[in-house]
Amino acid sequence: MPNRRRHRRLSNPPVMEGYKPFGIPMRKLESVILLYEEFEALRLADYENLLHTEAAQRMDISRPTFTRLYDKARKNVARAFVEGKAILIQGGTFVADDYWYKCGECHETIVTEHPVDHCRECDSDNLTTMNDHITDGKKEVKVRKQRKAGN
Ligand SMILES: [Zn+2]
Repeated sequence: MPNRRRHRRLSNPPVMEGYKPFGIPMRKLESVILLYEEFEALRLADYENLLHTEAAQRMDISRPTFTRLYDKARKNVARAFVEGKAILIQGGTFVADDYWYKCGECHETIVTEHPVDHCRECDSDNLTTMNDHITDGKKEVKVRKQRKAGN
């Protein structure tokens, strides 16, 4: 039995890396980090309209853990909206069935069953992999918070 609390299961990466607000000078722009699993919690509960118990099952975590993630996601998004901050979607610890890549040239998000070394859209080899570990036949993804926005 895998440790259910440690392995938060995600189906797909978000299509974008984050959001920028209008009307805030770039030099003053600060950002809020939304972890991948927080994004997923928001997606499942507010976009797919799943009950928390159903969403928790999808992510392979307990219902209370899901609700904590979801609350944190909403607080982070609300803070960005109210304070006029950018949202960077990055970081977290979770498992996914597929390999996830981001192309550094055309910004395509690539989700694939098998590892690749070139972008399928622009053929660039400037790919950032989002997968660090493979455990139990699943890819465990640990993505560090890579950047601070604000420029
Ligand atoms: Zn590309």
